[in-house]
Amino acid sequence: DNGFYGRDILSVSQFDRAKLDYIFGVGEEMRMLVERFGSADLLQGKILANLFYEPSTRTSSSFMAAMLRLGGQVIPINNVQYSSVTKGESLPDTVRTLESYSDVIVIRHPEVGSAATAAHYASKPVINAGDGVGEHPTQALLDLFTVQEALGAIDGLKIAMVGDLKFGRTVHSLTKLLVNYGVEFVFVSPDILRMPKDVIDVVNSSGHSYVETEDVHDCIGDADVLYITRVQKERFTDLAEYEAVKDQYVVDPALMSKAKQRMIVMHPLPRVNEISYAIDNDPRAAYFDQMRNGMYIR
Ligand code: ASP
Repeated sequence: DNGFYGRDILSVSQFDRAKLDYIFGVGEEMRMLVERFGSADLLQGKILANLFYEPSTRTSSSFMAAMLRLGGQVIPINNVQYSSVTKGESLPDTVRTLESYSDVIVIRHPEVGSAATAAHYASKPVINAGDGVGEHPTQALLDLFTVQEALGAIDGLKIAMVGDLKFGRTVHSLTKLLVNYGVEFVFVSPDILRMPKDVIDVVNSSGHSYVETEDVHDCIGDADVLYITRVQKERFTDLAEYEAVKDQYVVDPALMSKAKQRMIVMHPLPRVNEISYAIDNDPRAAYFDQMRNGMYIR
């Protein structure tokens, strides 16, 4: 038993370095398995319920692909508007329903804490696939796996996170996971989209230093990882505020000419305007590796 059997995955605070090394090792095995054989029957007879109350492309399909490639099956509920949720069914009842048909539940929901609520009512394991502006733990695992694969090690890196640090759940989870390593943080955002206090508290209490700035030029020359995010339009109450900040940071060839040769650009995707298409063939672009790694890690 590796300590994961039957467990919920709700937050990255569940992981330490030993667990992360274990997960990355299995991720590597899954990559080899897919490359050599395409599929296996490790999860034959198992059923995953994929319960998505918010839009998703990569997370939902990579969970599905992972399950199918391991011989399992999936109940996909991507259109909750066509489920009994529209009839007023509560989250606890929906979760109790799905767990009577499946072995594991993956949930994405707009409210912080919703995955924990689901886990409270379910006796089967629940995996948090994004709880509003809270966390996105499996994204952080695949992000960190991608950093390690691309740069060989995580200790000693300077990590710049750029864009919507307030509402972007992927940067919340990734920051909380990175405090397990000896890294330096640079948080680049408009003033209204700064990293929330609870995440900064985790950075401080783990003894890490960080710098906050509004200007990406302050860190582009020495960042090892430039992790840029989409401004999370759906979380704004005032769309004029969104319009004012939405295109503040764009990774384009001019910016990349100032970056190190050995560094990577990451993005959880979907991108809107944050990375110009001209960067896609730059060897430093790691965002397509991230999406593939999602299937191995999940
Ligand atoms: N796909 C990621 C998420 O679900 C990032 C984003 O939507 O901008 O959090």
